[in-house]
Amino acid sequence: MDEELQEVYDQVLRRNPGEPEFHQAVREVLESLDVVVRRHPEYHDQAILSRLVEPERQIMFRVPWVDDGGRVQVNRGYRVQFSSALGPYKGGLRFHPSVNLGIIKFLGFEQIFKNSLTGMSIGGGKGGSDFDPHGRSDGEIMRFCQSFMTELYRHVGEYTDVPAGDIGVGGREIGYLFGQYKRLSNRYESGVLTGKGVTWGGSLARTEATGYGTVIFADRMLATKGQAMEGQRVVVSGSGNVAIYAVAKAQELGAQVLTVSDSSGYVLDEAGIDLALLRQVKEVERGRVADYVERRPGARLVRGGRVWDVPCTVALPCATQNELDRRDAEALVRGGVVAVAEGANMPSTPDAVETFAEAGTLFGPGKAANAGGVATSALEMQQNASRDPWSFSQVASRLEVIMEHIHDQCAQVAEDYGRPGDYVLGANIAGFTKVADAMLAQGVV
Ligand code: NDP
Repeated sequence: MDEELQEVYDQVLRRNPGEPEFHQAVREVLESLDVVVRRHPEYHDQAILSRLVEPERQIMFRVPWVDDGGRVQVNRGYRVQFSSALGPYKGGLRFHPSVNLGIIKFLGFEQIFKNSLTGMSIGGGKGGSDFDPHGRSDGEIMRFCQSFMTELYRHVGEYTDVPAGDIGVGGREIGYLFGQYKRLSNRYESGVLTGKGVTWGGSLARTEATGYGTVIFADRMLATKGQAMEGQRVVVSGSGNVAIYAVAKAQELGAQVLTVSDSSGYVLDEAGIDLALLRQVKEVERGRVADYVERRPGARLVRGGRVWDVPCTVALPCATQNELDRRDAEALVRGGVVAVAEGANMPSTPDAVETFAEAGTLFGPGKAANAGGVATSALEMQQNASRDPWSFSQVASRLEVIMEHIHDQCAQVAEDYGRPGDYVLGANIAGFTKVADAMLAQGVV
């Protein structure tokens, strides 16, 4: 990193103590930008980076609610509105006990560049709570969501900030959040949230979009080596929204998917994951991967192991941040992995990414490979604005074009900067440049 970038990073460390994930996300982007600021001294002159690493606004609030036993519970809510250079803040809400300000800031920071890569007019933001939805009744989830929105509603809006789902926030939660927003604002403002049900303003193919997009990205990376998803042995981590539809798309393209996982362990199913059973267990029954194994002859549950020890040619981490470290990356490389595409946000640690680079493994970073979800959210916003719902195939074909464009843009920029095949560099530079140029045009704000 050049001296001025290092100063920006040191300032981030000083101002944001105890937020290692945020530091990690900033460092990874700054390390890619050395070559850019050398070509564009105006970015330093206008303090673009010092401004970009400081969220425009950070909101933290109390979320009190009453559980089924009549006890009062208190959680903490967050919304970090990071950058509105390209459009209204846009990014998901995460409900998970590990959520803290640093996690939300890392996700919001990544979101700026991801949203820029989609080519749509959306800024970057993220939010959530340390609320744990596991084991909670529908009534408890509803009361929590209503309390969360009772504070959040004053900060969001179709032209201000448009939240969506993430870990622990799916269609059910978006429904409760939207209902409460509608009640408080007395407006049917469809464009305030995305990931809605299709009968009340949602988009077909939004549920599938992140997982589908990740696999389309992997397929496009493989094509640069004369390969395709067809016939690949694929390892997937996670068993939530992103994982399920990554499995679906990989199978549709003729790959064999061997695993899924959750925090209790991973499933090894050599015959190939049974998608219908997986969806039944996770989406309908809200069960665990252990329930899948009970009903699937030949499948095994491995507790305490690492899914990355299963030999494969394509790996799709789709669970959570820092779930794949150097040791895992080395195991994947030994097992013959050709391509890794991140469905989750920042699932690979920096030394895992380095290991893939040294081994010449194709590596699609989350901000590019999983951008299909937010891109389709932007398509949902378009449908809301025009009041014109699109067919599944209309949305899915737009998604395909967008993912191919993101891939090609990252590949092209990496090539322009003398690092062909470096998708991390390509994604960071392509995402950053658009935001930086908008910030230059909009003055010091
Ligand atoms: P879900 O809540 O639907 O699923 C999350 C899955 O990951 C579950 O199987 C969960 O298991 C597992 N998981 C979560 N945390 C951990 C952990 N600490 N250790 C082990 N397993 C864990 O979330 P999504 O599928 O929506 O999100 C997955 C990832 O994809 C996240 O990184 C998210 O930020 C990213 N992403 C999501 C998008 C979307 O459109 N939904 C868009 C772009 C990125 P368990 O139930 O046991 O916790």
